[in-house]
Amino acid sequence: MSHLAHLPMRLAAASSAPVLERAEARRLEHDIRQALLHDGFALAYQPRYLLANRQPIGAEALIRWPHRKRGLVSPSLFIPAAEQSTLINDIGGWVLRHACREAARWPSPAMVSVNVSARQLLDGVLIEQVSEALALSSLAPERLELEVTETVLLDISPDVLLMLAALNDIGVGLAIDDFGVGYTSLAMLKRLPFTTMKIDRSMVRTLPREREDAAIVCSLVAIAQALSLSVLAEGIETPEQENFLVDIGCESGQGFLFSPALSAEDIIACLSGEK
Ligand code: C2E
Ligand code: MG
Ligand code: MG
Repeated sequence: MSHLAHLPMRLAAASSAPVLERAEARRLEHDIRQALLHDGFALAYQPRYLLANRQPIGAEALIRWPHRKRGLVSPSLFIPAAEQSTLINDIGGWVLRHACREAARWPSPAMVSVNVSARQLLDGVLIEQVSEALALSSLAPERLELEVTETVLLDISPDVLLMLAALNDIGVGLAIDDFGVGYTSLAMLKRLPFTTMKIDRSMVRTLPREREDAAIVCSLVAIAQALSLSVLAEGIETPEQENFLVDIGCESGQGFLFSPALSAEDIIACLSGEK
């Protein structure tokens, strides 16, 4: 584990997480532990669609934390805080178990995508968490996709490579989330067993007016196709963005134009074509 010792600092430096005052960080950590103990978290599910025909094909599980005093706490605040300790591994395990259990109720072959933290990979807990969640839910591995951000690839070690390969072997999909804003080199894309490229919404936002972003998104779609990766654009908000992405052959997408994240009941209706 010695090669992991420097990780929290690298992660903190790499993330755009707000820096919390020490006392506030401790209070937040305490509240997260309570939420884990007392079923305080929930999952919402944002559907994703084939762009060619707007058919729903699955959903991304997004954690929600409705807190008595804090209100609805954004994952962009508490996930980076939890990543400073092994708390994130407990949250990650909880998310995987719940998401797989829910997805087992969805019409097959709809897929569930689960965001995982770099730390779950680097601490070596992910494979066990995934195996447990699949066994408890009886969900087929092909219906689970794990989303990792480019941060993971900053510090890719042989152990992480082995774990990605093991996940790939059991049939679970692997997506690079927020692609295009960080650090991934094209050589990495070739070397690692990813199955999906998720184009970051910062590049989708300016489509089709910004020529540079349009050119980059076009190239990313072409690269994904050349490497036989699925490609998904996130954060689609306007019909113009959708039309552009359809025209350049982007396979799938998600965003407020189609749907926000839905409750566990509403996502079943959506995936069954009832909404
Ligand atoms: P992400 O994985 O890139 O998730 C997409 C975020 O974009 C979600 O925010 C979603 O609500 C938002 N979004 C979706 N469509 C649109 C759109 O059309 N326009 C705009 N402006 N935003 C859109 P959310 O739910 O607040 O999650 C933020 C981030 O928190 C996620 O980014 C992910 O990195 C992290 N996160 C969420 N759930 C989990 C989890 O269970 N585990 C871990 N490790 N991280 C999570
Ligand atoms: Mg994601
Ligand atoms: Mg994303």
